[in-house]
Amino acid sequence: RAKAAGRGTWRLFEPEMDTEIQKRRQAEIDLRRAIAEEQFEVHYQPLIEARGGVLTGFEALLRWHHPERGMISPAEFIPLAEEIGLIRAIGAWVLRKACADAAGWPGHVRIAINLSPVQFVNGHLVQEVEQALASAGLAASRLELEITESVLLQDNDATLGVLHRLHDLGVRISMDDFGTGYSSLSYLRRFPFDKIKIDQSFVRNLGGEKGSIEIIRAVVGLGKALGMNVLAEGVETAEQRGILEVEGCDELQGYLFSQPRPVRDVPAIIAAHPMARDAAARGPLLVV
Ligand code: C2E
Ligand code: MG
Ligand code: MG
Ligand code: MG
Repeated sequence: RAKAAGRGTWRLFEPEMDTEIQKRRQAEIDLRRAIAEEQFEVHYQPLIEARGGVLTGFEALLRWHHPERGMISPAEFIPLAEEIGLIRAIGAWVLRKACADAAGWPGHVRIAINLSPVQFVNGHLVQEVEQALASAGLAASRLELEITESVLLQDNDATLGVLHRLHDLGVRISMDDFGTGYSSLSYLRRFPFDKIKIDQSFVRNLGGEKGSIEIIRAVVGLGKALGMNVLAEGVETAEQRGILEVEGCDELQGYLFSQPRPVRDVPAIIAAHPMARDAAARGPLLVV
């Protein structure tokens, strides 16, 4: 009886699997071609200090211009690239490109780059980061690497070892999308993150869904207690900004300030925000 049920199930899914497999094969071919033909582009979104609006850096966000399908979201193609192992090549390219771009920006502007958990497995991540910094001529202190909790799900000494070696280079490590995984708190104990990025789902519900403000408050308290910077993602409205500033978030990021933009727009975004220098110069004026 079990056998019959099994065969029935198999038949039921067969045609669907065919198209799924075909779609995947095509996507795989397209992705490989995308690397060869340089169809990728890195866009940059500013990170802003909550108090004073000083620009501290940019997050690098990958874009794929598909020749037929147009712009494809990383949320769609990164999981596939991870599955078929192409994320290593793509990730290495993003590291080199974003570090090279950032080397042309003012010295206090940092670059934040997302890493996939796959880049931590059997790879050469530390060497890749070192090489990207060296060939760009970028100081390690200007680089932030963003990881999600899924990196620490591969809870092994190798992963922690890589994180520590990256940190020892002088690179900052951020915990991205905080609050969306499970047992987030225990992860914070396992590695001394420099920054926590509160996931945009909590920011989106500010002023709406009950409890979001309490979660923000708790994460800010936690970050302060552990000596970590706290950034809120997905800030779209002045109201959200106001609440996040009052709650003591250190940094903000979102469409309110800017969408992710191509590299040529970066100088204008930098020019539109006060610099750390300007803020320091303004300091005494603010006190008076
Ligand atoms: P993430 O690292 O959490 O990046 C933030 C995402 O939120 C970006 O989506 C950004 O465009 C979006 N965002 C920023 N401000 C707002 C806002 O105010 N409202 C809303 N609704 N969204 C906002 P994006 O660019 O589509 O990237 C999605 C995810 O793809 C990223 O989430 C990251 O996990 C991944 N990703 C992007 N680039 C890379 C990359 O180079 N390597 C790897 N491994 N992952 C990447
Ligand atoms: Mg990120
Ligand atoms: Mg995020
Ligand atoms: Mg995300």
